[in-house]
Amino acid sequence: MKYISTRGGIEPISFQDAVMMGLARDGGLLLPETLPSVSKETLNSWRNLPYQYLALEILSLFVDDIPRLDLDELVERSYASFSHPQVTPVRKVGDLYIMELFHGPTLAFKDVALQLLGNLFEYILKRSGSFMNIVGATSGDTGSAAIYGVRGKKGINIFILHPDGRTSPIQALQMTTVVDPNVFNIAVRGTFDDAQAIVKEIFGDLEFKDAYHLGAINSINWARVLAQVVYYVYGYCKLWKTGAESIDFSVPTGNFGDIFAGFVAKQLLPEGCINRLILATNENDILTRFVHEGDYSIAGSVTPTSSPSMDIQIASNFERYLYYLRDKDSAQVKADMEAFAQTGRIDLSDVKGRVAEDFISRSVSEDETIATIADFFKEHDYLLDPHTAVGVKAAQELGDGERPVICLSTAHPAKFGDAVQKAIGRDVDLPPALANLQGKESRCEIMDADVGQIKEYVRTHALT
Ligand SMILES: *Cc1c(COP(=O)(O)O)cnc(C)c1O
Repeated sequence: MKYISTRGGIEPISFQDAVMMGLARDGGLLLPETLPSVSKETLNSWRNLPYQYLALEILSLFVDDIPRLDLDELVERSYASFSHPQVTPVRKVGDLYIMELFHGPTLAFKDVALQLLGNLFEYILKRSGSFMNIVGATSGDTGSAAIYGVRGKKGINIFILHPDGRTSPIQALQMTTVVDPNVFNIAVRGTFDDAQAIVKEIFGDLEFKDAYHLGAINSINWARVLAQVVYYVYGYCKLWKTGAESIDFSVPTGNFGDIFAGFVAKQLLPEGCINRLILATNENDILTRFVHEGDYSIAGSVTPTSSPSMDIQIASNFERYLYYLRDKDSAQVKADMEAFAQTGRIDLSDVKGRVAEDFISRSVSEDETIATIADFFKEHDYLLDPHTAVGVKAAQELGDGERPVICLSTAHPAKFGDAVQKAIGRDVDLPPALANLQGKESRCEIMDADVGQIKEYVRTHALT
């Protein structure tokens, strides 16, 4: 399987090169040349597979430059860090099914992808005798998942900038209590935007970037999407046993990464297995407006909500779906993205009907989110985190009553204790992974938002 760019500007490359490239060199996003599909018979043979075995089968369809035994070992190791034997268990709660994606080391669904990505990086670097220095900024969640993905790995150092005192205390502790020698936490005196701007500037210095083999951790890496395809199929197989032939998924969405994996899974499985993807947004509703009106346009600034990982205006993975909407016409995608950079808008009203075959959407307000957490707890004695609550509310409103809906649960409620406390009037019990953070040894450099100083720090501690 070769990989191409949505903008058509690169020669087809291997899976391993796609993993290392991250963003395509022409500014586009990498995709497999063709999307594989499986027969009913193959799907049948997958029905009862444990998560890791299913992951190996699915990954093998997209990866032809890593020997199967090695891939098997990478997958085993990536999901051994999950605390649940089923990795992403599905629970029936009332009329809905909740797939818990938060049993990884940082208790958020990003672990599913970043545990695998960290192992892939290490494997590829080892074989090429190379190294990389990852530099990234985080407002909270991605940083810790990335750190846990590469802690202790050979050939990789990671530098994560977070805004000092502006993440939740638990989020900061999840990062700074990782004291492996290859992990460098930097608390920047400033905002997330300051930290982000510094990272951008460091990457903008191409000489520096090349000399230190800088790598990124953002959500556009193809391997992250691929890892997420697995649990859609796993969820489908779980429900198949209950007699369901066709199901919907509800997905709390920010950067369109998770739900794009759902789109790939929908193409992979026989027609109709995945009926529709419910695209749930919070008050930052650019993607809901896109589904309803075919209008992909930025409106105003980001509104802070209790589901901060979905507080985005520009969905970094959207371009991947656009490529299929434009019938793989990469020149058109390039023109669309250039227009978007200029005007903040892409008019897709002519393909609105096609979008409706894959997605339905609902924007969920802040009040609805909190009320959903409260009601769900009262009725089912089950606590939702605010991101998951957005997806559950959308499923309650848009589910067709005929087929089951699996709601993806993207974080453990204890990670967003303030919102949960607002909904149910008391604190959430901390699971051991979070409770044990207090009092643990920690390491963090506090620095001014000064690109010169931070670059010097990276230079001093980088692998070379
Ligand atoms: C990142 C994240 C999301 C959004 O996922 P996307 O792939 O950006 O759509 C939802 N919930 C949580 C808890 C997250 O960390």
